[in-house]
Amino acid sequence: MRKLIDIPPATVVPTEDAVLRAMGVPGDQNQGARVERLVAEALEEFRSEARPKGIVAEVDEDEFAVIYEGAGDNDNPSPLLEIFPRAEVVMLFAATLGASLSDRVSALFDDGKLALAATLDATASEGTERAGIHLDGIVLEDARTNGRADAASRILRYSPGYCGWNLTGQRALFAALGPEEIGIRLTDSCLMEPLKSISGVMVVGPAEIHEFTDDYSFCSVCRTHDCRRRIRELT
Ligand code: SF4
Repeated sequence: MRKLIDIPPATVVPTEDAVLRAMGVPGDQNQGARVERLVAEALEEFRSEARPKGIVAEVDEDEFAVIYEGAGDNDNPSPLLEIFPRAEVVMLFAATLGASLSDRVSALFDDGKLALAATLDATASEGTERAGIHLDGIVLEDARTNGRADAASRILRYSPGYCGWNLTGQRALFAALGPEEIGIRLTDSCLMEPLKSISGVMVVGPAEIHEFTDDYSFCSVCRTHDCRRRIRELT
């Protein structure tokens, strides 16, 4: 099963607090009129430019094993290598907010409007994550409706470039998924254009399959240990 998904633009618009958090500004303080205006302006630009789209394609365990192996550059062991064989559903995905928004961020930087550019960039990053969350909801609901998953099942996304999955894994992922159809292109250095795009694999399964200890070789240089939050939020 492979399908294109039109993501309703309203679902990817972040809240003001989320934009501030993405910029590292504590949300429990009065930010002042200037910051409030900046965020309001960035949100207006975002609503005007964002064109969210998604694509998903289901693969079986053997197919994903080949995609994940890619060019053989991954760290081994890695969390995903141990998680996906226990999944109920493995779904490749990509989502983008479209070229217009990324172009607008670049134009603002080029014009020297740095504060607005940085605020719109943070807004777009938040919006990109919301596009992923929207796809999560669709895939998990479909899996439950089709009897492939139950109420206890949870979904998490994993992406090339993180947690032992080498960024070059984007090549095999793109070859299998074809996100060019929603306007995402892969550069020679495996970055996505438009920049405000995400891709990877969604893994559906019981919450416990996503749990692991963050003591892989690459975890010692991880700055966020974001897996802890992701696992915590599964419960
Ligand atoms: S500690 Fe960092 S690198 Fe290691 S699994 Fe967690 S998020 Fe990934």
